[in-house]
This record gives sequence, structure tokens and C-alpha cells, in this order.
Amino acid sequence: MRSRVSLARLCSGLCPLVAVLLGGCANDVTDTLVERPLGALSELGVNLQFRMDDDPLLLGYTRLLGAEAKAKVHRTNVPYRFKLVDVDAPNAFAIPWGGIYVTRGLLRFAGSEDEVAFVVGHEVGHVERRHGSLAFQRNLLINVALILATNRHTEDWLEYAYLGNYFLDLHWSRQNETKADYEGVRFASMTGHDPGRGIDFFQRLDQRYGATPRFWGYFETHPINRDRISYVGRRPAIRRCAPRPGAFGRLARRRARGARAVRPGAAIRRVAAARQRRAVGAARADAGAVRGDPGQRGGRAGGHAGAG
Ligand SMILES: [Zn+2]
Repeated sequence: MRSRVSLARLCSGLCPLVAVLLGGCANDVTDTLVERPLGALSELGVNLQFRMDDDPLLLGYTRLLGAEAKAKVHRTNVPYRFKLVDVDAPNAFAIPWGGIYVTRGLLRFAGSEDEVAFVVGHEVGHVERRHGSLAFQRNLLINVALILATNRHTEDWLEYAYLGNYFLDLHWSRQNETKADYEGVRFASMTGHDPGRGIDFFQRLDQRYGATPRFWGYFETHPINRDRISYVGRRPAIRRCAPRPGAFGRLARRRARGARAVRPGAAIRRVAAARQRRAVGAARADAGAVRGDPGQRGGRAGGHAGAG
């Protein structure tokens, strides 16, 4: 009984602190004190664990997609960086303070540019909603509270508290993933892509790795793909947006028809080159517009036609 009273007092003392830290995350002070150093530490860890891929075409392609999403973010003070990781597994992840990492394997695995845009939007969504830094603060406070309680009392129920916190953390992680999927739909839609291709992406993952049974889903950090497909499919933006496969999708479709053998890697390189040419053409046209040179505008139109 004494331990319960003590823990209650401890929690009542910590609650205002939790409220200040969690609630105050929306301001620049908390960004500077928590998210920025956490991002720097996370970046150090990523650089120690993975080798970055500096292939100019693939990295350029990733950055172009990232730049489109970055133009739509709310947190304009965050230095979003889009990097390519030399890993064959199809994956992407985000760290606090704007580090977005896409694996080379994801670009090979994706069936269309829309799928990559959905995944990039999902990762940007994690940063937009401060998922990483909020989870860190929450876990820090909960663990400090449990450690303090453990030092003074060694009742068995504390072990259950740790176990409960573990499952609660998994539950919150799955909730964050669902929110990030929402952002993936939103960003894909805002950047002119078809967010419905996110469904294709999850279906392709299940085809390659096998669907996770629902029971084991409770031990996962991410919702099972069946639930993610269902959630993404119910978003209103899916119905509002007409599919726009883009150059990558056109190449993929051609490959699917067997009309021409195009390997995904080769397709990505061609699309990346086309997009880079288009970006350079647009920049030149803008420069020409500033100078009032109509010839430069004609050059931009030609660039778009070539990119098709
Ligand atoms: Zn995620």
C-alpha cells in the first residue's frame, strides 16, 4: 500500500512535467532542446550503422521526390535531408529533425514513382508530427518513473509495469505508423502522385515476405499490412485523386506487358535522368523569365516533352 501511495505521489509530481514536455513540443524551444540534439545523435548512429549511397542519379531522384514533399511541409524550420542508404532490403526511415533515409532496395522494389512518393511522404509525416522526439521523451519519463519506483520498492508488480510499458510502446508505435500512413496519402496527393499506389506497395510487401498473422501483429512496431491497406484505401484523398503513374510507372507498365525488358534499376536511372533534365530546364527557364528571354521558355517546354 505504501508503495502505491508513493508511486501515486511520484506520478502526480511528474504529470505536470510530462504535460509541459509533451505539450511544449510544438514550440521552437523544445525543438532546440530536444529534437535537434536527438536528431544529431540519431544521424551519427545512422552513419555508423549504414553506408550512404552517393549514386548521383538515384540520389538525385530521391532528392527530387523529397524536394516535392519538402515544399508542402508545415515545419519549415526543419532542415529536411533526403539520403540514399546502400541497403538491398526495401525500407525507409526517418530520424528527428528532418533526416529521411531511403534504401536503394526500396527504389528497386517499388513498382511506380507513386509508391516511392507515398513512402517518402510517410517518413516526412513522422518528422512533421515529431513522432521520434515525442516517443523519446515519453519513454524517458516513464522509465525514470519506473526506475525511481524500483529503487524504493521491489514488488513484483513493477515487473508487470515494465511489461505493460513495453506493449504500450508497441501500441503507440503502431498508432504513429497509421498517422504516418495518413501523411503518406496526403503528401503523395499534394505532390501530384496517386496515393492509392501505397496499397500496391503493401500488397507487394506481403507477396514477397508473406502476410503477418493478426496475433503476431500485437508484437510488432508496425500495423499488419492488411490493416494498412484497409486504412489507406479508406482515405478520401484516394477517391479524389486520379492516378498519375509518371514516367517510372509508364516504364513499369511497359515492362509488365513484356513489350520491352526494362529492369527496375535501369528504369529508375532513366527516370532520374529525365527528372534531373527537367529540373535543370525549369531552372534555366526561370532564369530566362527573369531576364525576359522567351527563347529560354521554349527550351523548358522542349525539356518537358523529352522527359515524357
Ligand atoms: Zn513509419
